[in-house]
Amino acid sequence: MRRRAALAAMLATVLATVLAAVLAGMVALVSAPAQGAAGDHRPARPCSRGLVALTFDDGPSPTVTPRMVRLLTRLEVPATFFMVGTRVESYPELARRVSEAGFTIGSHTWAHTDLTQQTDREIRSALRRTRHALVEAGVPAPTLARPPYGAIDDRVRGVLSAAGYTPVLWTIDSRDWDDGTPRQIADRVLAAVHPHRADVVLQHDGVARSPLTLRALPREISVLRKRGFCFASLGPDGRPTPPVPVATVTADRGRVVEGGRVRLTVHLDRPTTRSTTVRTTAGNVRIPSGRQAAHLWLQVPQDRTDEVAEELTTKVYGGRGVQPAMVAQALVRVVDDDPPPVARLTAAPVTASPLLTTPARVEVHLDRTSDRPVRVVVRSALGRASAVVEAGSQASTLTVTVPPGAPRDGDRQLPVRLVRVVHATAGTSGTLTVRAPDENAAQARRAAVAAIDWPAAGVPALF
Ligand SMILES: [Zn+2]
Repeated sequence: MRRRAALAAMLATVLATVLAAVLAGMVALVSAPAQGAAGDHRPARPCSRGLVALTFDDGPSPTVTPRMVRLLTRLEVPATFFMVGTRVESYPELARRVSEAGFTIGSHTWAHTDLTQQTDREIRSALRRTRHALVEAGVPAPTLARPPYGAIDDRVRGVLSAAGYTPVLWTIDSRDWDDGTPRQIADRVLAAVHPHRADVVLQHDGVARSPLTLRALPREISVLRKRGFCFASLGPDGRPTPPVPVATVTADRGRVVEGGRVRLTVHLDRPTTRSTTVRTTAGNVRIPSGRQAAHLWLQVPQDRTDEVAEELTTKVYGGRGVQPAMVAQALVRVVDDDPPPVARLTAAPVTASPLLTTPARVEVHLDRTSDRPVRVVVRSALGRASAVVEAGSQASTLTVTVPPGAPRDGDRQLPVRLVRVVHATAGTSGTLTVRAPDENAAQARRAAVAAIDWPAAGVPALF
């Protein structure tokens, strides 16, 4: 019984192993085309595999460095140059050109010495002289230092950090200084770069074999990009730092009618290394990792306001891991299809007074607002009057003066006509009804006296 159970267990183990091997083979077959070999048709998403920081040591060299800067600039690859002080002193304009092209420059000591064999004072002096040569050349004072030969110990590390330097070594030695064709140099790097890691590659622009490095770079860069690696410069901590994409926003169309919508495109100058949300004044938009653009819609409200011209501006103002471009805004002209407002008049009936003039209110109404003040002039048998409807408002009032006592016989209908309308269309005119006084002059006088509030008028009560 026991033996049979053991046998069954062994069989199961064998089966499982065979099955695992078959499955692994299948997985390998399935995933093989995605590995990003030379013949790959579908490149991996940019930056999805990891970061590679290229570094070049021992320059500047008049034969190699300018060509390397041109190549890296054309291919938009950030890199860091660790320069030797004596060479910077010989070719200050080369150092400046590298810096002006946007590359970081670090210190590689004054005379390429093994720092572990030097006293603290000698190390400090080597750093100081190199820094001086770089600053003289117009390059920012370096904060990164690479010890020649990678020779470093705790003492050297201490002296470097006390002098304000972050020591930078490498994770991949291309051995370009040693041997190999450009192809072999490139393949050495390609074989050593591992996914989901941040690698620092050691190469040279200032050694005898540096022209071969220059020829290795195009293949190295294009294959790494196809495999989904992103190039990074070294941050102040000496680690490969993902480049921060700059976000801009553009509108697909420059004009839109009110109530319509325009598609906006948020574009990054380089792919994001992680999914990010870009904030714009028209709303937020998510850009998945490895992508460079995303869309959102700008809805233009139908405000039913007559406008001269309207322009809508959308700006990028933030987002994790992205920076808004200095000038990042989309301008959309809103074509205003709203007609000018129509003005019409209404007047409430008034009762004339036998004694006094009576103000009659005539209301001016607009059927929609305007972004300009609307001026209205009216004429009636009682004369001219005018009113202004303020921008954004829909109503105003003007006053017509009814003389005392009139009319004597019954009600009168007085047409009030719009004679002039500015920034609007004339609609219906109004009619003012003036009613005859309810009483005669003597009754009116008594009523007026009775209506006086004597204490309020400041007159002492006599009765
Ligand atoms: Zn070196």
